[in-house]
Amino acid sequence: QAKDAGRGVARYFSSELQSEQEDRVRLETDLRQAITAQQFHLVFQPLVSAKSQKLIGFEALIRWNHPQRGFIPPNVFIPVAEENGLMPQLGNWIIDEACRALATWPEAVTVAVNISPKQILVPALPNVVSEALARHKIPGNRLELEVTEGVFLGDSGKTVDVLGRLRALGVGIALDDFGTGYSSIGYLNKAIFHKLKIDGSFVRDCGSRPENVAIIKSIVQLAKSFRMSVTAEGVETAEDFERMRELGCDTIQGYLFGKPLSYERANQMVVGLGAKRMAG
Ligand code: C2E
Ligand code: MG
Ligand code: MG
Ligand code: MG
Repeated sequence: QAKDAGRGVARYFSSELQSEQEDRVRLETDLRQAITAQQFHLVFQPLVSAKSQKLIGFEALIRWNHPQRGFIPPNVFIPVAEENGLMPQLGNWIIDEACRALATWPEAVTVAVNISPKQILVPALPNVVSEALARHKIPGNRLELEVTEGVFLGDSGKTVDVLGRLRALGVGIALDDFGTGYSSIGYLNKAIFHKLKIDGSFVRDCGSRPENVAIIKSIVQLAKSFRMSVTAEGVETAEDFERMRELGCDTIQGYLFGKPLSYERANQMVVGLGAKRMAG
């Protein structure tokens, strides 16, 4: 009987795996056409100063509107793009598109762009970034790139070199989702990162989990000792915000201050910021 049950489980898994695989193949084919078919767009999530609660910039996040399947989350298609060698092309498009938006906004506004681990080792990445900056006439310090701890799982020496070349363009480098992945504390003293982003999972459970408060405290301390700034992600409530501000986070990102917005809506926020400035 146990044997039968075992076989049933195996069959279940194999058909599930098969359809999963078919799914990925279809996704891959569709991804190849999606750029030229203009199915991608960027959305922009506000980043605000913890002190003033004013807008300081945005994180650009990619969206894919699939003609048949509708919205497919980046966590699903980015890994497929990476595995199929599509990331250089898609990644370059993202950088250019983010710079295009940035060029229309005032000097004080920054935009952060996510760079996936495989993208970092595309040999021409620093050139791609400097060309995009030049094309849109943007100084490097208005652009920020976000990488995760996963970048150090590959050729870490090469990664450190690429990040250094990007920093030399004036571009900021943030370590995203800090604390959730492969620990790279050893890389923090290489003056590569200008910012740590605390993963939302630590932020959201802070009220009920005192150990998360301890983790955030030590991340903030670590960042300060390397003169890096700290962003808290996933801030959803006024309580989260107050706690993160008190713990010493410099920048806040999360649904409390805004979900990822279309370019048009982000632009309205920027225009509002300009008006407030002129009045003040
Ligand atoms: P990430 O870079 O850590 O981005 C933050 C994610 O958290 C975004 O999800 C954002 O919408 C979500 N988020 C922000 N505030 C809150 C909040 O208060 N509550 C909750 N529950 N979620 C919040 P999204 O857009 O689905 O992106 C997921 C991940 O996909 C990103 O994580 C990033 O790793 C990747 N990704 C997104 N866009 C790009 C891109 O253009 N290029 C690359 N390479 N990766 C991207
Ligand atoms: Mg990010
Ligand atoms: Mg993150
Ligand atoms: Mg993430």
